[in-house]
Amino acid sequence: MATYEFHCQKCDLNFELMFSFGKYQKKTKPIRCPNCNSTRVVRRISYFEARTSKKS
Ligand SMILES: [Zn+2]
Repeated sequence: MATYEFHCQKCDLNFELMFSFGKYQKKTKPIRCPNCNSTRVVRRISYFEARTSKKS
């Protein structure tokens, strides 16, 4: 399992979600904010991907 940090752009909440490896990368479901249920959630920069300019 790995913990991913996310940031909600709507309500400014930071939260963490745990995924097993590989499961997150399938991206079958959009990440939803646990506070406002928005899908305007971005993954926070951790130890790599520090210079991501692409937005999908
Ligand atoms: Zn939110």
